[in-house]
Amino acid sequence: MNILVINCGSSSLKYQLIDSESEKVLAKGLCERIGIGGSAITHQPADGEKVTSQVEMKEHTDAVRYVMEKLTDEKVGVVRSLDEIGAIGHRIVHGGEKFASSVVIDDTVMKAIEECNDLAPLHNPANLIGINSCRAIMPDVTNVAVFDTAFHQTMPKKAYLYGLPYAYYEKYKVRRYGFHGTSHDFVSRRAAELLGKDRKDLKIIVCHLGNGASVSAVKNGQSVDTSMGLTPLEGLIMGTRSGDLDPAIISFLCEKEQITAQEMVDILNKKSGVLGLSDGLSSDFRDLGQAAENGNQKAIDTLEAYAYRVAKYVGAYTAAMNGVDVIAFTAGIGENNARVREMVGEYLGYLGVSMIPEKNALRGEEVILSEEGSKVTVMVIPTNEELAIARETLRLVRDREAGK
Ligand code: AMP
Repeated sequence: MNILVINCGSSSLKYQLIDSESEKVLAKGLCERIGIGGSAITHQPADGEKVTSQVEMKEHTDAVRYVMEKLTDEKVGVVRSLDEIGAIGHRIVHGGEKFASSVVIDDTVMKAIEECNDLAPLHNPANLIGINSCRAIMPDVTNVAVFDTAFHQTMPKKAYLYGLPYAYYEKYKVRRYGFHGTSHDFVSRRAAELLGKDRKDLKIIVCHLGNGASVSAVKNGQSVDTSMGLTPLEGLIMGTRSGDLDPAIISFLCEKEQITAQEMVDILNKKSGVLGLSDGLSSDFRDLGQAAENGNQKAIDTLEAYAYRVAKYVGAYTAAMNGVDVIAFTAGIGENNARVREMVGEYLGYLGVSMIPEKNALRGEEVILSEEGSKVTVMVIPTNEELAIARETLRLVRDREAGK
């Protein structure tokens, strides 16, 4: 069955068409600048060139229509008709406490996702528009929602409660949720598989280091803690997000800079992290790495602060699980940036970890970095959130067919 995976942002839509049997990507693409003028769709069939067309996309429904057009196009298409698309999997950012696993979408599910809008005001409404567009254009196809937060719903209370008046949790559901759940689930599962072990018997720390970044503690197959919170702002220093800070900084800076709390939160999301810390040099680790090699002190300090924060979370989660068997790096930086992995690795001596430099020099592939026989296995596992969403979608469609 061909499964279309859709990831809607506020002004973008990413898609992949995946053959669920071979798990091959048949085509993928991106619609950009939806509703803000100058919109374009970039489409790439598996065995063809990337094609970009400037087309007007006033809303996400237009984008979905263009995606369907490209997928069935005579020249760049990969299916003859939309009938060859068996199901659609949607990445949904926030499922709150309502969703601890993926679900087949119906009106009740739509309403429940909408009720989580408050928790992700930029993302969830865009996700809902994406679903509505697909339902309008392909009314007979099953849509499945796969939540970024669902995998972390197993976190115990002690991990998800903030030290705030309890009424805020009761009234507004202010608590830690965590994100990147699809990736933490996929990578921890694959790590166990590669070691030929059952995930239920392992304590795994997954370091998802991309532009957005989070660490998770996966014990006996379940997420027991993760570094992002109510929103993706908490935890690690990221590309442009600050991660953990003293909350009093917000009012302090609002007063000094004469800005509102919302403007400050915007700065924390978009102008902080390694971009802010490097004094605006770059949010991209390739640029930062290059600058650090050229002796740029701000870039050096930024990378050190970044790796130190990751190492602190690894330490915290080792304590939380009373030990660790596997540490897995993933996402853009985790998969590709040997220097960052090495810098984090330098803090892991107390776990008896030593990494093999030749293995660490490899990029973007599944590899064990630690010495053989090492008590803790350090590895790189490329993440694949689209494939994970396609697998979930297939599982739910099959369950439904089987009347489960
Ligand atoms: P993601 O959000 O997972 O796409 O990750 C984006 C981050 O990964 C950016 O900071 C990139 O600089 C980093 N990244 C991607 N490829 C490389 C590479 N070959 N070397 C170093 N960093 C990379």
